[in-house]
Amino acid sequence: MKSHVDDRLNALRGSASRRPYNARSLAALENNPRCTLRALLDASGSDKAAIAARTGHPSPFGQSAFAFARGNAFEAMVKDNGCAELLRVLRETLGLTLPEVAYLDLNDVGVAGDNSKGDRNRNRRDHTARVLLQAARGTGDGTLFDHPMLHLQVGGEDAFLEPDLVAFRIDGRFYVVEIKSFPIIDGQAAPMQVRSATTQACAYVLALRALLTKEGIDPETVSDTIVLVAPKDFTNRPTADFVDARKQVAALTRQLARIGRISDLVDLLPEGLTFDLDLDKDQRPRRPAEELVAAVEQVPATYRPDCLNHCEMAFFCRARARAEASLDVLGPAVREQLGGIDTTTMALGLARGQLTPTADQSDTAAALRHAARLRAELTAMYGGAA
Ligand code: SF4
Repeated sequence: MKSHVDDRLNALRGSASRRPYNARSLAALENNPRCTLRALLDASGSDKAAIAARTGHPSPFGQSAFAFARGNAFEAMVKDNGCAELLRVLRETLGLTLPEVAYLDLNDVGVAGDNSKGDRNRNRRDHTARVLLQAARGTGDGTLFDHPMLHLQVGGEDAFLEPDLVAFRIDGRFYVVEIKSFPIIDGQAAPMQVRSATTQACAYVLALRALLTKEGIDPETVSDTIVLVAPKDFTNRPTADFVDARKQVAALTRQLARIGRISDLVDLLPEGLTFDLDLDKDQRPRRPAEELVAAVEQVPATYRPDCLNHCEMAFFCRARARAEASLDVLGPAVREQLGGIDTTTMALGLARGQLTPTADQSDTAAALRHAARLRAELTAMYGGAA
């Protein structure tokens, strides 16, 4: 059964090499769990950015060189000298009692002598597991673990995850630390950025819990409270806060279970469907764009405005949703308000009295006509500015 699903997923991806899951792609599952297209693109390891570009809707992602350098410099500063600044923040800002600290950098272990990235990842994963398990059993001396390599099986595939820093261990519990370069101003950070950072951290929490569970250690030994470290106000000085990630951990757990049933989605695909870009020897796509668009459009997608924050296919899916006059373009709040109405065309027709509502639509239709009247009156009073 598994090989049938694997064959189908490999055929979907085509000739390109597999893109493995990472914390960001896992986090995106939690952001839009209903999207079949995203689930299949990720499970098949397809290159979403390349596919989006070939369809004429290149990805909005990618940090500027300046933002990238700034983020790296901030992280290096926080971790300098065995994480001296991080320790100061944990003690002074969060009031944690960390009397003696043993700092372990797991970054370079297993690199020498290995000849493939997969080998390096596996060696680092094994070393990380040894060190963290010793710490969990109280037989190791680590307190701060820098650059661990964690691992999750997702839909039968290896996902290697590399947190900025896992944890410190305090009172017998591990905490995941996320170091980000967006500012915390007056104790507040942009909610969207916090959510994105903590959702990625949830993947690390689950990977750590999976490691401990396999060895018979209580998974609750890993906290689902994330420690977010970021610049304070407009300075480069770090501050920190706790973020409760219980709901996000639970949601991501559900989505990962759904990936396990990717076979259900695969079985619904039309025979012969592929997202293959037909790359030439210089990795340039040869497949005609119209043919690729037609293939992608055969898979249902559930576009939402916040796809723009987390999915490389966002511009493509937004254009598709607009072309279908889908209410999804306006977001879940509008979708909910207009329950029973499927398209913007239908909503406008009801608002203008050009369509007769069904019994289910009558309340919503009355509200739409009322809103249209108000808008017309305001436009008459204030002109185009209303
Ligand atoms: S952008 Fe498209 S593929 Fe990505 S999650 Fe949104 S709807 Fe799904």
